[in-house]
Amino acid sequence: MSRVSSNRRRAAAPAADNLWDRLRRLAMNLWWTWNPDAQALFASLDPALWNACQHNPLALLARLSDSQRAWLLSDDTLRVRLEQCEAALGEYLASPTWFSETATPAQRKMRVAYFCAEFALHESFAQYAGGLGVLAGDHLKSASDLGVPLVAVGMLYRCGYYQQRIRPDGTTGVYYPEYDFAELPVTDTGKTIVLPMPDGKLTAKIWRAEIGRTRAYLLDTDLPANTPAQRAITRHLYGGDNETRIQQEILLGCGGMFALDAAGETPTVLHLNEGHAAFAALEALRRELKRKAGAKQATPAAQWNRAVDRVRGKTVFTTHTPVPAGHDRFSAEQMDRYFADGPAALGISREELLALGRERPGDPTDSFCMTVLALRLAGHCNGVSKLNGDVARRMWRHLFDAKGNIPSKPLSNPVGEKTADPKRVPIGHVTNGVHSETWLAPELRPLYDKYLKPAWVGAGPGDDWWRTAGRIPAGELWAARRMLRERLVHYIRRRMVEQLTRRGAGSAEIAAAWEAFSADALTIGFARRFATYKRAPLVFSDPKRLSAILNNPKRPVQLVFSGKAHPADREGQAFAQRIHEFSQQPAFAGRVVLIENYDMETGRMLTSGCDVWLNNPLRPREASGTSGMKPPLHGGLNCSILDGWWPEAFDGVNGWAIDDGKSEESGPKVDQRDAQAIYRLLEREIAPDFYARDKSGVPQRWVKRMVASMKTVCGAFSTARMVGEYAMNYYLPAHGR
Ligand SMILES: *Cc1c(COP(=O)(O)O)cnc(C)c1O
Repeated sequence: MSRVSSNRRRAAAPAADNLWDRLRRLAMNLWWTWNPDAQALFASLDPALWNACQHNPLALLARLSDSQRAWLLSDDTLRVRLEQCEAALGEYLASPTWFSETATPAQRKMRVAYFCAEFALHESFAQYAGGLGVLAGDHLKSASDLGVPLVAVGMLYRCGYYQQRIRPDGTTGVYYPEYDFAELPVTDTGKTIVLPMPDGKLTAKIWRAEIGRTRAYLLDTDLPANTPAQRAITRHLYGGDNETRIQQEILLGCGGMFALDAAGETPTVLHLNEGHAAFAALEALRRELKRKAGAKQATPAAQWNRAVDRVRGKTVFTTHTPVPAGHDRFSAEQMDRYFADGPAALGISREELLALGRERPGDPTDSFCMTVLALRLAGHCNGVSKLNGDVARRMWRHLFDAKGNIPSKPLSNPVGEKTADPKRVPIGHVTNGVHSETWLAPELRPLYDKYLKPAWVGAGPGDDWWRTAGRIPAGELWAARRMLRERLVHYIRRRMVEQLTRRGAGSAEIAAAWEAFSADALTIGFARRFATYKRAPLVFSDPKRLSAILNNPKRPVQLVFSGKAHPADREGQAFAQRIHEFSQQPAFAGRVVLIENYDMETGRMLTSGCDVWLNNPLRPREASGTSGMKPPLHGGLNCSILDGWWPEAFDGVNGWAIDDGKSEESGPKVDQRDAQAIYRLLEREIAPDFYARDKSGVPQRWVKRMVASMKTVCGAFSTARMVGEYAMNYYLPAHGR
């Protein structure tokens, strides 16, 4: 098929603009973000420009000079490569999938609408703050791979999340770029929605993004029809105050439901990914009640129960954090203002509406919590790791009665003393994963193609070719490890020089940065949001002991950090400052670095280049964590507190556990204890194993650990496995209802 059409194309006169249109079309489907050939094709147009525009092919195409264009038009190999990429995308889109091959005709009618406030699809499409967005982006990619019929609903932010600049004194500079949507991979659907708001009608435009087979609808209020305040609703991700937050969440939830109508989508399942989107379930309830209004014989109570049942039947809710600040809460006054018509539309009293979101339904001072609303209206709830499911059941047990039911009219049917045993609370778990192809360093593909024979296109959620990682000869795997570490060291140096140049550093300092870090030294990475519970500076608790570990002449160790704190989180920013200050001290210079502005590119470089991935949160606040699932794709090893996903994966060989997985305390003593444990591991196991080389220079014990890490983590903690589980255990049962 593709050969015939490409011959025809070559026979026709190669119209000049045709090439650019075709490149643009290839860039408009985010499939290229996990296809190394397509990325290499875009990069080849102008490698320096490709880097300068954050690997954004649309921005790159817009910036090519006339002479570059003329030269590229005469390049036949470019046409051949483009044809190959087009054919690969065509084949990807047309090939049968796990879902299309295994689902029954009734199941194939399933349509999932997946709501999320952020999606991390690529560094050039910076509509994410951290782990939630990365998870959601990877979910869409695997849904496409597996053929699970799913459309995404979100927002398109004019400025996205902030860009972090560390000032010379270590304080955080917060900068917001303004994105030109013409240079983002989104298409104007020409459709808008209108939402009633207290200060007048709010109009939002619907943009569409293509992620392989998956479509995303993104809402944007930055339109002339809106007031300046309304235009600002989709300006910043997690920006503004609590007033902005409720407006964004009404837009995402209620507006998202309207947008699905406008786009002609008829979902049979709603998936609320985190509480931000819970108003979608309230809107679904309003619709059910309206539909049932004709059924005159039923009492209002029966109508209510049936409508709630129907909404619960088709709604899936995933909760992502046990940290209180992670659960949005609005005041009764806000709810009164924004949902003035709510009680009438739902046929309930104001107090009953408020009680839907209250932890203590009878307490008029209690706020309206989006997680509580979601738990009351979603019949299929889950946490994001086995441990997190456990924590969520304990955390929310007071909402459920002894039988594990949750009242939808808690005022007239309080749970009271009959609170559920956590075992009866119907919150399950689906452990998170990562989209392997997105995070896998392209340099490793030849090695894996040769020994593991991965079949990316058409693979099912259970296909786990990583189990055969032992086939890779130790020497080759170790050589690959060094190559990736060297790639990271070059990257670190380049980023350090950029940072120093901007801060006005002297030439001696810049020259030193070009020599910093070593491609042969044990490299440990720590990169994640600098939320305080993640304790980024923990390893500096005893600077003398750490310095002795890093500067051991026979067994040098180096540490690379990256992470942003929320712009309002002073404590998290102080963490960045402390790490920056340590990196400037003579004992740590050239061995410790803080790379600013953690994003997907930094994430890819660090998780592929580091030998050890350090994770030291306060148990049990790391709901899952996903960054630790990325290093094993490259033979990296985790050294982590037994929190989030790690208790499910750790087997004594595939990495290290910092603690015993029991304590749930916090405070200076706990920090002390955990820091000591990290030092002990580094001194007695990690550094000695890494440097114990055989005659051919290979650390056999270490390589065994690498293989164990690949075998036990890569398949089991992929979004292919994860989306398969959502489909089988959540989506299909919800669709069946
Ligand atoms: C993987 C990734 C995350 C998730 O990190 P956690 O360790 O799960 O907190 C966040 N941000 C970026 C840029 C990532 O690549």
